[in-house]
Amino acid sequence: MIHSHASDAELERLCLGTIDSDELGRLTDHLLNCAECETRFGQSRDYIRAMQRALVTLTPDWPDPEEEN
Ligand SMILES: [Zn+2]
Repeated sequence: MIHSHASDAELERLCLGTIDSDELGRLTDHLLNCAECETRFGQSRDYIRAMQRALVTLTPDWPDPEEEN
């Protein structure tokens, strides 16, 4: 159902790209129709990016998320 809100765990998986394709379809449909979850998704994404940047700083071997390819 489009009407069930995305959970924090689902939003995290979506940000990290570890979500499966069924969930991905359901969540993207929902996010397009739900401003609340879209906002939460933006917040999760910012949080995960900040965390990844922190990891890059702390662990020199960690791949830089800003550096694609
Ligand atoms: Zn929602």
